[in-house]
Amino acid sequence: MNDFVYRDGVLFCEELRVQDIAEKVGTPFYLYSRNTLVRHFQVVDQAFSETPHIVCFSVKANSNVAILRLLANEGAGADVVSAGELFRALKAGIDPKKIVFAGLGKTAGEIEYALRQGILMFNVESSQELMLINHVAQNLDTQAPIALRVNPDVDPKTHPYIATGLKQSKFGLPMKEAMAEYEVAQKLPGLNPVGVHQHIGSQILESGPFEDSVQKISNLAKSLKLLGMDIRYINIGGGFGIQYTDEKAPAPDHYALALAPLLADSDCTIVMEVGRMISGNAGILVTKVLYNKQGEEKRFVVVDAAMNDLIRPSLYKAVHQISPVVREDGAGEVKVDVVGPVCESADFLAQDYGMPEVKPGDLLAVFTAGAYGFSMSSNYNSRPRVPEILVSGRKAYVIRYRETLEDLVRGEAIPQDL
Ligand SMILES: *Cc1c(COP(=O)(O)O)cnc(C)c1O
Repeated sequence: MNDFVYRDGVLFCEELRVQDIAEKVGTPFYLYSRNTLVRHFQVVDQAFSETPHIVCFSVKANSNVAILRLLANEGAGADVVSAGELFRALKAGIDPKKIVFAGLGKTAGEIEYALRQGILMFNVESSQELMLINHVAQNLDTQAPIALRVNPDVDPKTHPYIATGLKQSKFGLPMKEAMAEYEVAQKLPGLNPVGVHQHIGSQILESGPFEDSVQKISNLAKSLKLLGMDIRYINIGGGFGIQYTDEKAPAPDHYALALAPLLADSDCTIVMEVGRMISGNAGILVTKVLYNKQGEEKRFVVVDAAMNDLIRPSLYKAVHQISPVVREDGAGEVKVDVVGPVCESADFLAQDYGMPEVKPGDLLAVFTAGAYGFSMSSNYNSRPRVPEILVSGRKAYVIRYRETLEDLVRGEAIPQDL
């Protein structure tokens, strides 16, 4: 359920017409619904209400500080993967005691920053990282709370680029090495093992892979406790799939029903790292048709947004629903590639996609763009990054301004003798 709905053929975001916002801010732009964001967070949070839990929003899905503030106000924690994301989360007012730090290439500087902020824990991905965290913590005369990210070797049945819990994956420690690594960690004075962590992939559409892996890590947590470790957190990661077109995505309470029993006697707080499920369907990308173009074999709709604005179709062959912001009665359907101005053949928002005929100037909405949309955008082809707008009821707020041409060269320097 989300707050982007057509009324008499006109697309609304909550109480505002999308075309009116486009009139004010120009195109392309990202548009988010506050209502949807809050509701999605609450649905996830409430699904697990029977179990002590923390819902950490995965900042990489949508990093805008206004959105993080909104979620912080709802009680969200954060899952961060860099100093930059940690900075954003703190700036947005997220409680450091609800922040987990993942990622397999943490630097000493990032570790020190996070330790000084007093985060909930590090999710550690290798034995060398374990050593470095111990070292940095000792230098600061403190103890780093850690979980090891274990690789439970389950197939999440998703796109290979977003499967992270297979044996071949670069992420996590092999299950069979986990015990030994925990024993090493337990002995190191700068470390305090407090949790176990997994994250098996993204856009997963069934609970089976979660059930298998959660069973494995909750068994691991039990074994660690028997060794005298004070394991208080089981972090089941994220990856809960959502509906982009016609996928059937289980609701949060479906996962809760399947997983809660596996965790019930663990005596642990459950940590979840949820990105896409919270913000994905809370945002759209609005773009304008520039040209229709008939190639020898294909028909193209050239729009003013491109792969630098939304890379998911190019990177993952992801399919997003695309529809005109104003639906004309009786427009004939045609099969088109929706492409942007970037000089790459991979620059498309849709391929062989059935859509009503459109003309230059028409607005299109690219749905389900609230996760891994703006946060993966770039300036490729020296395209200024687009604004982000947040709607709340009848009000629209610019939560990120459109970049200017001057912004594009900010930070660059021409040597004096050139
Ligand atoms: C990306 C990521 C997530 C969030 O994944 P979603 O599919 O957006 O829920 C959670 N945890 C880790 C460690 C991640 O890398």
